[in-house]
Amino acid sequence: MIFFDIDGTLIDHLSASAAASLRFYDHFPRAIPFDREDFSVAWEKILDKHFERFCRGEISLWEQRRARMREVFAQPELCDSEADERYQVFVREYEQRTSAYLDAAPCLERLRGSSLGIISNGAREQQLGKLRRAGLLEFFSVLVFSEDVGLGKPASRIFLEACRLAGRDPAASIHVGDSLGADVMPSRALGMRGIFLDRTGRLPVDPPVISTLAELPGLLVENLA
Ligand SMILES: [Mg+2]
Repeated sequence: MIFFDIDGTLIDHLSASAAASLRFYDHFPRAIPFDREDFSVAWEKILDKHFERFCRGEISLWEQRRARMREVFAQPELCDSEADERYQVFVREYEQRTSAYLDAAPCLERLRGSSLGIISNGAREQQLGKLRRAGLLEFFSVLVFSEDVGLGKPASRIFLEACRLAGRDPAASIHVGDSLGADVMPSRALGMRGIFLDRTGRLPVDPPVISTLAELPGLLVENLA
């Protein structure tokens, strides 16, 4: 079984999030206490901070979205419904902009016939939408999201649940992802083959490491030979 992470691996989350954050900023003139040129970076940091709390099981999916809004607007008193409305402004812009990396579909096409799955920390409906719009959803037979198990990567539970659903031992499973801390180290610790997709080509890590998904089918064939 070959599992894939979604954001940063199959789908270009960062480009979509950066562009959507600026549309969001412009939607609320003079209400967000950041300079526009600094906002995309600040936005992503705030997003990561609260999303990681969700992945650790500390707060719900919606609570982390609200926490993001309260921090972005520096309004800790913002009520839930107002925070949710503001979040919807962002997510509409974001979901229009997510797209697959150009190497994703050709890689999955070459792996057709292998069992393919998803292990993702993102919200189930949002992640399914991204894959569907990118034409990638049909490739996957097992899809596990952090909200299905109450904890996200790097927790072992989400990897083990994916292997259980696939009916495979971790040792007979592969996980491909772009995060050392969330994908590669924890999957390797469970005996899975953790393949690091380093799109920047800059991080020194024990192999297997690939810099594009175009290298993945060849790597897997080599190892089967
Ligand atoms: Mg990722």
